[in-house]
Amino acid sequence: MKTIGLIGGMSWESSSLYYQIINRSVQEKLGSVHSCKSVMYSVDFNEIATLQKEGNWNKLGILMSDAAQQLEKAGADFIILCTNTMHKLSDEIEKSVSIPLIHIVDATAEKINAENFRKIGLLGTSFTMEQDFFKGRLLDKYKIETIIPNQEQRVEIHRIIYEELVKGIINTDSRTIFLDIITDLISQGAEGIILGCTEIELLITNEYTATKLFNTAAIHAQKAVEHALK
Ligand code: GLU
Repeated sequence: MKTIGLIGGMSWESSSLYYQIINRSVQEKLGSVHSCKSVMYSVDFNEIATLQKEGNWNKLGILMSDAAQQLEKAGADFIILCTNTMHKLSDEIEKSVSIPLIHIVDATAEKINAENFRKIGLLGTSFTMEQDFFKGRLLDKYKIETIIPNQEQRVEIHRIIYEELVKGIINTDSRTIFLDIITDLISQGAEGIILGCTEIELLITNEYTATKLFNTAAIHAQKAVEHALK
């Protein structure tokens, strides 16, 4: 079994999901009392969120690369970055280490392709919905087109992520907001919805909608397990 290096803490609410999923999955696959070999470098999310707000991606790149190097030194065989947003810096991180990074978009695209979907709704932080690092990779590498919520909806989603979900706050009004936005994206032609922020599954699951959901945290964690056991 390979050792997974997780860059976590963004937020720890979703890192704990990753940790659970990878260990449960290894236990299911290998039986007995197996669990997953892993090392996690967990940041102080307040520091990260402040730098994001300031647009200081240079400093964030240095912090993420440093975390990746620490994981390599600690014996990780490959890295997963447990957040969609920070994949904006995936190139810098990859360059800073000699072990591979399993990209969250690649893992997600594989699942979307398996459904033969070509147009997909994307929910995430404003950074993820508005910038090109996520949508661009989906389109250029996998020919998958994305539809994003309108400006007003994006502001609401971003607010709910940073004011509630990263603190583990689950609010039923916020769930209704998300479900209305999902309905809207489907009516615009989305064939499914990417939960493109690793905390969204705390709020939205198929318990609340029949829409096909691509939960990036679970997909990414499962991909890491596949890789670890290969
Ligand atoms: N976990 C979130 C994501 O998947 C947001 C937190 C962050 O900014 O890293 O994008």
